Amino acid sequence: MPKSMDAIMALCKRRGFVYQASEIYGGINGFWDYGPLGAQLKKNLRDAWWQDMILNPCWGRQGPDGDRVRCVPLETRIIQHPKTWVASGHVGGFNDPMVDCRETKNRYRFDHVSVFVPASGDPGDKPLFAFIQGSPSEAKQLKKAEKAFGQAVVVPLTSIPPASFPKVLGPDADKVGTLTEPRQFNLMFKTYVGATATDDDVAYLRPETAQGIFAQFKNVVDTTRVKLPFGIGNTGTSFRNEVTPRNFTFRSREFEQAELEFFCHPDQSMEWFAFWRAFRMDWWESLGLAGENLRLYDTPKKDLAHYAFAGSDVEYRFPFTDPGFGELEGIAHRGSFDLSQHQEHSGIKLDYFDQELQVELQAKGVAKEEIAKRARYIPHVIEPAAGLDRGALALLCEAYTLDDSRPSPELLRLHPRIAPIKAAVFPLVNKDGMPEVAQRLHADLFKRFGHSGLIELDAKQSIGKRYARMDEAGCPFCLTIDGETLTHQTVTLRDRDTGRQERIAIDQVPSLLADKLAP
Ligand code: ATP
Repeated sequence: MPKSMDAIMALCKRRGFVYQASEIYGGINGFWDYGPLGAQLKKNLRDAWWQDMILNPCWGRQGPDGDRVRCVPLETRIIQHPKTWVASGHVGGFNDPMVDCRETKNRYRFDHVSVFVPASGDPGDKPLFAFIQGSPSEAKQLKKAEKAFGQAVVVPLTSIPPASFPKVLGPDADKVGTLTEPRQFNLMFKTYVGATATDDDVAYLRPETAQGIFAQFKNVVDTTRVKLPFGIGNTGTSFRNEVTPRNFTFRSREFEQAELEFFCHPDQSMEWFAFWRAFRMDWWESLGLAGENLRLYDTPKKDLAHYAFAGSDVEYRFPFTDPGFGELEGIAHRGSFDLSQHQEHSGIKLDYFDQELQVELQAKGVAKEEIAKRARYIPHVIEPAAGLDRGALALLCEAYTLDDSRPSPELLRLHPRIAPIKAAVFPLVNKDGMPEVAQRLHADLFKRFGHSGLIELDAKQSIGKRYARMDEAGCPFCLTIDGETLTHQTVTLRDRDTGRQERIAIDQVPSLLADKLAP
């Protein structure tokens, strides 16, 4: 049975993971804030990405060239020169075709609309029932479709010829034929730089972080000692004026990306693509998404962007996509498209001179002119582009567990590396010297583990309620100070997932926790 998204959202609110942005003003569609636990959870996810992609890329694995993978960090701005977005194709082409509903005034992304059609094929004089997967229109339209033609199957609206649009009943419409044919609509947020706000001052909020990396490629090569193959990685906020933001944080108008652009020789690019495709899947699995809810989907050739050589998506089966999957991360082989575009639009050379290749070719006796030609090239790029908000949401959905046999049936089985609260210390009662011991243990653990997450100290309410709160917050370990602590210097360590407790010496707590919290 799929997990209830309503229950997950309720827990996220109740325990301070995710709040609606501007809630006191009625909210603002497509924007979400993170509460204290959500902010720490996202930081842990961002830090894990930074650690495993930039500081110690791929856990020290060798790349296809037999060397350790090398990556450097970068931080670029949300607002770039507007020409950036002309070069990248976003000004002209970041246009997802849209359909409007003349009756409800809703606007939908063409490729997001699905339609119930009769399993038998021919609808006769019956309408076709359009809906948005995961929205209330899905159940409503299914009911109507089953009434109209018994068994219904789902097809994308993109497969319906425009000549049949007059037969389509829009997702929330009462009359048929109210959907327009698909039209272009730009997803970039516009703003003005400077005081005058004329057309010449238009700038855009970035729809992806990648282009800042391409624009600084030359500076990174010229000012550091990086040599191909290497990656440049960053995390940061991106904006897309999504037409139908939905499914909690999954499709937001402001979101955070973690993107790596990995530059390599064109001849080695397919091997690097295969390498990153495999590593990114292993990485998400290592954070607790292992199993049938995670998959790699290879984009069919016909659906690739015109410049792309290959593409795969890491996808997760969210409760609202079940039995289907939603994209967590795209891994794209972008060829030399981006650097070539920026070279053309800026007039600055963005090719790379490969000294190692030059030496290799010299040793082979290749002619000078030939070397000059072959050792200078525009690198190919493999881009693993992850969404941190979608990642956090997938981790929360996967962790959410309903177990009626427990005294506190709802819990979050978050991986210790991601859990915002690493451990909680409880004095069993708030007297008899227990609070003092608890405070000392808390201070000690805070010193050792406080850099990676929160350490709670809580003396209020019954011990059962305190455990229940920590289970819902996804805290993996609770330590309780009781009467025996005072006589035998031991505490109980409770494991969130099993609810089992073991008694351990208080002075062993830090080393035991260090083992359990290690990535
Ligand atoms: P989709 O097809 O779902 O719109 P996309 O293929 O356009 O996504 P990319 O441009 O590949 O997405 O962006 C990389 C990652 O950024 C995505 O895998 C996703 O995790 C995240 N992302 C993209 N758009 C959004 C959004 N509106 N809200 C939250 N995360 C997003």
